[in-house]
Amino acid sequence: MSLSPVIPSTRANEIRYAIRDIVVLANKVAKTGQKMLYLNIGDPNVYDFTVPDFVVDAVGRAMKENRCGYSPSSGIAEGVEAIRNEAHRKGIKNILDIFITTGASEAIEICMTALLNPGENILTPAPGYPLYTAVVSKLGTEENPYLLDEENGWQPDVADMERKINDKTRAIVLINPNNPTGSIAKEETLRAVIALAKKYNLVIFADEIYDKLVLDGGQTLSIASLDQEVGMITFGGLSKVYLGPGLRIGWGIVSGQTELMGNYVEAINKILRARLCANHPIQYAIKPCLEGAHPHLPEVLNKLRARRDLTVSMLNEIKGISLVAPKGAFYAFAKLNEVKDDNKWTSELMWKTGVVVVPGSGFGQKPGTSHFRVVFLPDENTLKSAYEKIAWFQKEWHE
Ligand code: PLP
Repeated sequence: MSLSPVIPSTRANEIRYAIRDIVVLANKVAKTGQKMLYLNIGDPNVYDFTVPDFVVDAVGRAMKENRCGYSPSSGIAEGVEAIRNEAHRKGIKNILDIFITTGASEAIEICMTALLNPGENILTPAPGYPLYTAVVSKLGTEENPYLLDEENGWQPDVADMERKINDKTRAIVLINPNNPTGSIAKEETLRAVIALAKKYNLVIFADEIYDKLVLDGGQTLSIASLDQEVGMITFGGLSKVYLGPGLRIGWGIVSGQTELMGNYVEAINKILRARLCANHPIQYAIKPCLEGAHPHLPEVLNKLRARRDLTVSMLNEIKGISLVAPKGAFYAFAKLNEVKDDNKWTSELMWKTGVVVVPGSGFGQKPGTSHFRVVFLPDENTLKSAYEKIAWFQKEWHE
């Protein structure tokens, strides 16, 4: 019998991840000699941000001490303890379990895998981070997007959330601060989400990976600090606040009531054990990060604030584009008021100008609207040049 082509699974065929998918096209454009301006990937290290020295020192020390064997499946004790102390500082009380993972991505995937059966669904924000929908496809479960309200500063639309709940809904995902809009949820919104979770017996996944990247002062309010009954898992990590996405360290904090969450916590731990552990030596960076004075943050926030302000003023000046000012993280989600197909718009933008942004449809959005996401991590000169090119392109654009 002769060999025939290997057929990938249908579940793999369904997976979309617009942030990286766009890179395939960007590489094609770059090959033509076009000068590229990348505003597409939320990786601080690609731009003028470097991982703080105290992280490098802690990891270097751990490696010199040969801490390169497997760690416990939930992570090293000092890391778990540091995350517990941080959770207490965030006001989270009924902590049932803490586990360290290979990025927050792994924590999210494990928690979804341990919860969802095929045919069940999870409420995900639209727009929102596409990992959740990618995992939904992988698990053979259903996508159930709820809208963020652009007219209301991109706050989660809790009425829409309630309309979307059905008897197969198991959990609500809340990304706060949000990727891709940079919005921060208000306390009244968080309380309304908790009320829904209680009414419909849902778990809350609180993705707070950008929690300290708040651009106008203060900190985000952790939804798990507002209730001790509802089962919640709060996700965090070193990728964004500590400028080390390639370190691949994240975590999950389970809170709520043991009687309600006990079996689920055990299911999560079974999966944690089966995948052995997260990167061992890097886990030694967690304690210095969480328990230190965050000396790197003032400069990071100053840079981001200036770049956010430039983004808001320059994009809002362009005819046909409007932008709700982001309040956290490093993303802006701009509306294309007269464009029907944002995939086409972003791809033409790339061919004509070399500016790489991600189409709004890759994050989910209100039907009939078009957007694009900008990462405002690059320096002001790069951003300015990119926004000038977008302004030129927008004038030329005809659908
Ligand atoms: N959650 C959100 C909202 C993100 O934007 C990202 C990365 O961009 C992640 C999770 C993934 O984090 P990690 O690098 O820790 O896997």
